[in-house]
Amino acid sequence: MLRAPVVTIMGHVDHGKTSLLDAIRETEVAAGEAGGITQHIGAYQVHQNGNRITFLDTPGHEAFTAMRARGAKVTDLAVIVVAADDGVMPQTVEAIDHAKAAGVPILVAVNKIDRPDAQPDRVRNELASQGLTPEDWGGETIFVDVSAKTKEGLDSLIEMIGLAAELEELKANPKAPASGYVIESHLDPGRGPVATVLVQRGTITVGDSVVAGSTWGKVRAMLDFTGARTESAGPGDPAEILGMDDVSEAGERFEVVENERRARQLAQQRSHRLKAESLARQQARKVSLEEVFSKATEGEVKELAVVLKADVSGSLEALQDEIAKLPQERIVVDVIHAAPGGITESDVMLAAASDAVIIGFNVRPLADARRAAEREGVEIRTYSVIYKVTEDLRAALEGMLEPEEVEEALGQAEVKELFRASRVGTIAGCLVTDGRVTRTAQVRLVREGTVVWTGRVGSLRRFKDNVQEVDEGLECGIVLEGYQDVKVDDVLEFFETRQVEQTLE
Ligand code: GDP
Repeated sequence: MLRAPVVTIMGHVDHGKTSLLDAIRETEVAAGEAGGITQHIGAYQVHQNGNRITFLDTPGHEAFTAMRARGAKVTDLAVIVVAADDGVMPQTVEAIDHAKAAGVPILVAVNKIDRPDAQPDRVRNELASQGLTPEDWGGETIFVDVSAKTKEGLDSLIEMIGLAAELEELKANPKAPASGYVIESHLDPGRGPVATVLVQRGTITVGDSVVAGSTWGKVRAMLDFTGARTESAGPGDPAEILGMDDVSEAGERFEVVENERRARQLAQQRSHRLKAESLARQQARKVSLEEVFSKATEGEVKELAVVLKADVSGSLEALQDEIAKLPQERIVVDVIHAAPGGITESDVMLAAASDAVIIGFNVRPLADARRAAEREGVEIRTYSVIYKVTEDLRAALEGMLEPEEVEEALGQAEVKELFRASRVGTIAGCLVTDGRVTRTAQVRLVREGTVVWTGRVGSLRRFKDNVQEVDEGLECGIVLEGYQDVKVDDVLEFFETRQVEQTLE
C-alpha cells in the first residue's frame, strides 16, 4: 500500500503560504470530501483520484527544519510558493536550501497570478538560476501557476503533487506496528494532553499503548483532521490522540508497543536518557571543525557541510569562489546555504539538522541564533579576512583525511635450522639473504608463498649476544614474539610501517 504523502508549504513571507493552505482546504470542503473541517489539528488531508495527500498546517521552512533537527523526517514533498508579482526573495532561497539539505523533492507554486503585475515567467527565470529549471524548459522541476485568491490552478497543483508523490513510491505496510511523529501537542483544559500525530507506518487504533519520547499513554479516543471521532489512522494520516500522560514534544517519534506497562517503562528509560543527552549536548558541541576530524576517522563524514553568511553578496561570492578553489578530490565542502545577512536562528537549525558548521564573514549571530547554537551544539565561526576562512577550512579538510600507513621493507631472512631453548622457546637460526633485520622490526612469516603469521621480533642474537641489527649475508638467531611454530625453509620478511599525513592535493 502507498502512504499518503506529507507536504509542507514554504516560501517568502507574504507570498501566500497560509492563503494557499486555506484555499486548498476550502476546495476540499467544497468538494464535500471532508465535510466540515471544524478544527485545525496541525495537518489536514485532501483527496485526489482516490489518493490522499496530507498537508502540514504549519507552513515555512523554520518549522520544517526545527522538526528535522529533532530527528523527525516528516515531510515528503516541499511546495515552494513564490508570489508572481514579487519574485524570488531571500526566504525563497532559504526555503529551497532547507528543502535541498533535507533531500526533499521540490515543486513550485507560482502564486498570485490573478494580480495584474504578475510575471510568472520572471519567477521561472529567477528559479532556474537557483537550479530549479522548469520541466517545460528542459529541467526537472514542476511549476504550477496558481491563485489562492481566485482558486485558479489549485486543482492542477493538487494533481501535480499527487504525481510527484507517486514518483517517490512511499510504500508503507499498514499491518506493521504503528509509528510516526508527534507534530503538535498541547494541554486541553477539558480533554487533558492532546497530541497530533502523523502516522508513518502501520495503523494506530483506539486502545493502543503508545510511547512518544518520555511521554506514554493508552489511546482513549482519536479524532481525524476534520474533528470527527475515528477508530484508526493509517500510513500518512494525521490524527489527534487523547490519553497521553503528558504533553509530548513536537518532532518526537511515537511508537505503538505491546502494552501499557511496556509504554511506561520505555518512557521512563527515555526520560533518563534524554536528561543524559541534554547534559552531554551542553558539554560537547555536536559539530565543530575539530570534531569533524574525529567523525571522519570513524568514517561518518565524507563531506564538510557549511552554512555561509556574509555582510554583502559581493563578499559571499568571493568566499564561495575561494572555497571552490580548495582541493576537493577527497573531501567535499558542501555549502548547503549561502546568503547575505546576519546569522539567524533558522541558519542554526539548518546547521543542526544537517551537521553543518556555520561560517560568518563580517556578520555576527543574532541573540536568538546564539542561544539556539548553544542549545543545539552548533559551531559558529566568524571571520573578517577571507584567507582565514579558507585557511581554517583547508586545515579542517586535511584533518579529515586519515593518515595513510605505508610499509617499508627492511630485508629478508631464511630459516636454516631450529634450536629449542627451555626458557625462550624456538630459536630460528637464520641467514639474512637480503637487506637487514632489526630488533624493532615487524615480521611476516611466509611458508611456501603463504603468509602464516605477522608480528614482531622477540629477540635478535648473534652468537650469544643480543644485537639491534644484523646485515645481509650474516647469520643470526631470531625468536618471534608469541610464535613458536617456525619451520626450516620458512622465509621471514622484515618491515616497518609509518603514518604518512595526507595532503589535499
Ligand atoms: P504568508 O505569509 O506566505 O503565509 O502569506 P499570506 O497567505 O498571509 O498572504 C499574504 C498576503 O497576500 C495576504 O494579504 C493575502 O490576502 C495575499 N494573497 C495571498 N494569495 C494571494 C493570491 O493568490 N492573489 C492575491 N491577489 N493575493 C493573495
